[in-house]
Amino acid sequence: MTIREGGCLCGAVRFEVRGEPIVAGACYCRDCQYVSGGAAAYGMMFPADALTVKQGEMKAFTLKSDSGVDVYRHFCPQCGVHLISHNGAHPQFRAIKAGVLDDPSCFESEGSIWTSSAQPWHRIDPDLPSREKNPDIDPGTAN
Ligand SMILES: [Zn+2]
Repeated sequence: MTIREGGCLCGAVRFEVRGEPIVAGACYCRDCQYVSGGAAAYGMMFPADALTVKQGEMKAFTLKSDSGVDVYRHFCPQCGVHLISHNGAHPQFRAIKAGVLDDPSCFESEGSIWTSSAQPWHRIDPDLPSREKNPDIDPGTAN
């Protein structure tokens, strides 16, 4: 079974995730733009029980989505890097940001979501499916 490791920028938080992602993609929602620094969030969705936090403890910032669901963004309290998010309506999933993996090159986008919130200067992959808003399972923030 594939085991991927990752962590935050300062190294306080370390995790591993087992198996292959259920889905992976880019989320262009406005909330992800804040967290990423302006870009889309590149996320890989796993079952919650595939994830093990091996070191450190994350804090969660919670914001209501458009549909009134709590979206939890888990971040390192030392360096502030957001690593993982989950949607209160789908607690069985965790979206892991590609950039916090030790080897982010394994990320393969299957599509784009929330393109209705994309900026004019974003480059949405024209060769992959895209949705203006949410899919049933959201690889980014589950807004
Ligand atoms: Zn950190």
